[in-house]
Amino acid sequence: MTKEEEQQRLREANDFRYLGNGPSATGGATGWYLSPEFYFRCVQCGYLMRADPSTYDDCFCGAMRKDPDAGRFGSCFGDERVEVYQVPPESAE
Ligand SMILES: [Zn+2]
Repeated sequence: MTKEEEQQRLREANDFRYLGNGPSATGGATGWYLSPEFYFRCVQCGYLMRADPSTYDDCFCGAMRKDPDAGRFGSCFGDERVEVYQVPPESAE
């Protein structure tokens, strides 16, 4: 399955709830709180990235990247340009 197909499937299978923009939307006091129940959406390419802290991921346009080895997540557009969504556990795959 390609990354595009995965994204398509993700959108169809889940009920995404918009929480807000930036780290505060994840409930983190000092930065991003990474948890698999959250998804980050790139404002430029629309890629939905699962906020699983253990996996590397980047979006289609390369602006948003998650690097577990460095313990970092961010967008080159700035934290407040990242949309945060949550998938309620009962609707997750
Ligand atoms: Zn992007």
